[in-house]
Amino acid sequence: MARIETPRRVRGTQDIFGDEQRRFAHVLATFERVRALYCFQRIDIPVFESTAVFARSLGETTDVVSKEMYSFEDRGGDSLTLRPEFTAGIARAYLTEGWQQFAPLKITTSGPVFRYERPQKGRFRQFHQIDAEVIGAAEPAADVELLVLADQLLRELGIAEGVTLQLNTLGDVATREAWRAALVAHFEAHRGDLSEDSLTRLEKNPMRILDSKDPKDRPIADSAPDIDAYLTPEARAFFDAVTAGLDAAGVAWERNARLVRGLDYYRHTAFEFVTDRLGSQGTVLAGGRYDGLIGSLGGPETAGVGWAAGVERLAMLLDEPAAAAIDAVVVPMGAAAEARATGIVADLRRAGVAVEMAYKGKMKARMAKADALGARFAIILGDDELAKGVAAVKTLGAGTQVEVAFADLAEALR
Ligand code: ATP
Ligand code: MG
Repeated sequence: MARIETPRRVRGTQDIFGDEQRRFAHVLATFERVRALYCFQRIDIPVFESTAVFARSLGETTDVVSKEMYSFEDRGGDSLTLRPEFTAGIARAYLTEGWQQFAPLKITTSGPVFRYERPQKGRFRQFHQIDAEVIGAAEPAADVELLVLADQLLRELGIAEGVTLQLNTLGDVATREAWRAALVAHFEAHRGDLSEDSLTRLEKNPMRILDSKDPKDRPIADSAPDIDAYLTPEARAFFDAVTAGLDAAGVAWERNARLVRGLDYYRHTAFEFVTDRLGSQGTVLAGGRYDGLIGSLGGPETAGVGWAAGVERLAMLLDEPAAAAIDAVVVPMGAAAEARATGIVADLRRAGVAVEMAYKGKMKARMAKADALGARFAIILGDDELAKGVAAVKTLGAGTQVEVAFADLAEALR
């Protein structure tokens, strides 16, 4: 008879359990709390979209679109893609749902995203992002608010230490075109020394050479002209307003003139929160202003700015959050006590007490379970207690024990 092979977990996916799950949940809960302080609303959007949503908005030449998308034809013959990021789907929703009426719209979301990449530490094929966006605000105040939100999130997670905000400007359209021409001239002059990848970038997306990790490219990238000489007065004023806002809010930042976003629709602010604690996967949160995006999807010209962070990378930086504390473990001994315990446990849970029932093994194993779960109390029920209508409530750790009538249990445990 043929043996049935056990199925495998798909490469680059995760089953998240135990400590890992607690860290993960802590990141999401903290994000949920902080976004409410900044008056951002939570939205949810589909996990898949028409392929065109990503191809058009991210641009055909980007790594994500050209190499990393999970695209497939569905049974109706439509080309769909599992979202590789949130911004494009949010922009699509903004247009199709008429959310223009709520502009400026401050929103957050979170969930799984999918990219066909080589899996390694901090890099998965299904990973999770938290995402924050402000759509319909062209003011630098929106950029500042998003950055202060990101900074507070990292602080409340206790991981701000050793994480640096790197900031750059990509200017407005006029700035960008002038700078791009200067970059192309510089790279053309060093064509012979560029890596293979950067030669392709030179044709399609020359700015991307600036953040190349190839050692061959570094000297050429480092000696390339900065954007500063090409900034229009408006673009300079915008950047100054963003940095002044960060200073006023007490958020530390560092200029990184090599920081770019490859996509054409980015304008003005570009930023990353970077750490050296995660090896080469050091970017934990990244974003920028994308005033050209909604126009490129066929909508009216609409300003936008936002960021996304990898939940796994944030979770990896956390000190382990404490295991969820439970209040009590009920330890019944004997068939009659077990039958009674079912009702007591249900009543306690309805009264808001977190209770586990130990129903396996001898007394000793049941008490060990109460210790292992870190419960504050063990509620011991035997034939003697049943006869008296009380439970023996033992304070674990202290070892003291008192008798409490069934009716008073919930009150006593709180
Ligand atoms: P990287 O340079 O690490 O590939 P990226 O520029 O592709 O990052 P973004 O598209 O800006 O990343 O996504 C925002 C954040 O999502 C990143 O800063 C990172 O924390 C996280 N992230 C990106 N790709 C992955 C992945 N494959 N696995 C886990 N987290 C990821
Ligand atoms: Mg990437």
